[in-house]
Amino acid sequence: MGFNVRNNPSINTILASGAKAIDPHTGAIAPPIHLSTNFARDDDYELISDYVYSRYGTPNYDNVERLAAKLDNGEDAKLFSSGMAGIVAILETLNSGDHILAPSIMYFVAQEWMRYISKKRGIELTLFDVNDRDAISKNIIKGKTKIVWIETAVNPTWQSIDIEQAAIQAQKAGAILVVDSTIAPPVTTKPIELGADIVFHSATKYYNGHCDVLAGVVVTKETNKRWDEIVRVRELNGSVLGPFEAWLLHRGMKTLGIRYKEISNNALKVAKHFEKYTKVERVFYPGLESNETHDIAKKQMKNGFGGMISLLLRANQNQCRKFASSLEHFTPATSLGGVESLVEHRASVESPESLVPKNLIRFSIGIEDADDLIADLEKALEAL
Ligand SMILES: *Cc1c(COP(=O)(O)O)cnc(C)c1O
Repeated sequence: MGFNVRNNPSINTILASGAKAIDPHTGAIAPPIHLSTNFARDDDYELISDYVYSRYGTPNYDNVERLAAKLDNGEDAKLFSSGMAGIVAILETLNSGDHILAPSIMYFVAQEWMRYISKKRGIELTLFDVNDRDAISKNIIKGKTKIVWIETAVNPTWQSIDIEQAAIQAQKAGAILVVDSTIAPPVTTKPIELGADIVFHSATKYYNGHCDVLAGVVVTKETNKRWDEIVRVRELNGSVLGPFEAWLLHRGMKTLGIRYKEISNNALKVAKHFEKYTKVERVFYPGLESNETHDIAKKQMKNGFGGMISLLLRANQNQCRKFASSLEHFTPATSLGGVESLVEHRASVESPESLVPKNLIRFSIGIEDADDLIADLEKALEAL
């Protein structure tokens, strides 16, 4: 009887034992933090290791990047000082005259950057309607569209966009597909396996999971000229993390699988509970059958629908803001993906161009007990 070796370990196995970064000098299980910015040469003036200067890379970035590439099944990954720094590096590969296609509803700061470069650099931008399933094929321009950018599920109304279909459309027109998969980490969705060329994660959110590191991860299906350019942008502009933040992120990532599972179970319970509630006009959650893109979500979110829920309340803007501040187990704050539940009146933080309804409340569900969260929300809804 031979050993039964699994060639394709599951995500939880990769996250726990596959994330190993044992120090070869001491055997330390927790990897050391290399604070050094520069690395010495030997007697022949040759570099002693692969490291030169920390703007180009350090062992602590490598630990995260190796793990991130494995999780998404990409050829390489790079860590950035924030999610936005990673997004900017991807968009820096565009030239004037190129066209980019992106959803009308998406992470608003990324869209703001797209608007900025389209005004300043002659890059054309088309924002497509996420409710139209043919929107990409209708708006793509063969030979001119260079990036089809999607986010799924879209923030903050959580419609899903079909990654497989978007990849087919993009590649047919000579463009690449970039997927912002912050909301759906590889625990549940693997965009590269569905045809995406580049996957982006704001690692500030579920990857780190503890609201204490700002970081971005970009993963590529294959190393090529475009990838070299993205890496070069980071090397030249220095949008890198400090080694300690990289170390914290690597530690946080090890529990991504169990956190995401718990969070998804909680969120589904909360979303279902408020679906038929008189003071709630509508519940947005990819895991609800009432969601018009639930079929897409079911197909590509294989292991949980995540922790992001939005409610439309039968209330005005002021009542909504008060509601958000009156909850006991939800902290009124922006961002998402931590172990603690957060609540946000989204229209208050987005830009004036924002299409977000004034009565929309966004929740990032954490790992508290779902029944406590439900009781808290019920009490605040009654008081409306
Ligand atoms: C937060 C977020 C970003 C930006 O990441 P930062 O780490 O805040 O720079 C991009 N996309 C989505 C979906 C996000 O939630």
